[in-house]
Amino acid sequence: MEVLFSEISKLIGTQNEVKFGAEMKELGVINNAYMLVKDGIIAEIGEGLPDNIPSNHVKLNGAEVLPGFIDSHTHLVFAKPRYNEFVLKIKGATYEQIAASGGGILNSAKALQETPEDKLFEDAKLRVKSMIAAGTTAIEIKSGYGLTLDAELKMLRVVKKLKEYFPIIIKSTFLGAHAIPAEYKDNTDNYVDLVINEMLPQVAKDALADHIDVFCDTGFFTPEQTDKILKEALKYNLPAKIHGNELGLTGGVQVAVANEAWSVDHLEHLGPEEIACLKKGFTKEYGGTMPVALPGTSYFLRIPYSDARAIIDNNLPLVLATDFNPGSSPVHSLQTISALACIYMRILPEEVFHAITINAARALRMEKIIGSLSVGKRADFLVMKNKESLYSMPYYLGQNQVSRVFVEGLEIK
Ligand SMILES: [Zn+2]
Repeated sequence: MEVLFSEISKLIGTQNEVKFGAEMKELGVINNAYMLVKDGIIAEIGEGLPDNIPSNHVKLNGAEVLPGFIDSHTHLVFAKPRYNEFVLKIKGATYEQIAASGGGILNSAKALQETPEDKLFEDAKLRVKSMIAAGTTAIEIKSGYGLTLDAELKMLRVVKKLKEYFPIIIKSTFLGAHAIPAEYKDNTDNYVDLVINEMLPQVAKDALADHIDVFCDTGFFTPEQTDKILKEALKYNLPAKIHGNELGLTGGVQVAVANEAWSVDHLEHLGPEEIACLKKGFTKEYGGTMPVALPGTSYFLRIPYSDARAIIDNNLPLVLATDFNPGSSPVHSLQTISALACIYMRILPEEVFHAITINAARALRMEKIIGSLSVGKRADFLVMKNKESLYSMPYYLGQNQVSRVFVEGLEIK
């Protein structure tokens, strides 16, 4: 089927390539544009109108059109919100103190283990719907609130059902090494063995994950344990996307790059050595570990923001994601993230735009399929509210500036 979209005041994000450093400021824009979509794929873009007008013709009345946003880091399958901890944090408790008192991730794990699969699916479905309404058309979702073989598999089966239910792209990540269950707290290596010997083989056998993740940080998993898990995962062809450097300069970046991880996420602590290590990773053969900053977490936990400015100024390709989760970032909208990145990280709106589109696609190694509005890519795109622009999103904090969302050329209602 052929559909023409015309009367687009600005078609934004027409450049196909991952953006490094200063390139992140340069928007690819066609003014007074049209976009022709054939069988869900962008067939032609240009100014004015094409030579042949198909019978399916959608006029967008001068709105701006952007590629769908890509959220490369979420934990959106969870049993319930953690309002109690929210209040404890207001009173001054730290993330580590909450974790040490049996709250945090272990709290979510207990609730998830007790929640039926159907209920998890129904709740997660609503969250995905609100993300789509906010303009997100590709999502990565992690396990890691199970922390037992059965509960981790249950979470990943929920993600599989979401993949089947929604037309958007959903990718799943096995994060069995998200926290250390209380019964393993004096022998964390035994839990690592459980992840490696029992969880990983079953996750791979059931084809439930596209990637592996480990929370490599103070009080969680060491770089040595992380390395061991990532090396095992490679035997099952699971590439790594890891949590690193949220709580300190703990070697997360180094272990990610050494294992050719697709991304290293968080980076609230980032020194010159980490920057140099990331830069070293961008070779032709391997293509680099994408640095992913998560400003929602810094905002919500009142911890330092990642020095995303340094990432860009050192000619690296920045990615931004929500980290949508019930403990440290109950933020589902990349529009909200764009505001936090602009205001607290001093990232320009154009740079944010690339960090949630083409660069985010690269963090999932999907940049050939999504992330820009160029010929041959999936027609996943957003129509901005009338007269609103790319700049409205970080400016009107918390307001949805997207009026219509299309996936493979079809509108999602
Ligand atoms: Zn996370």
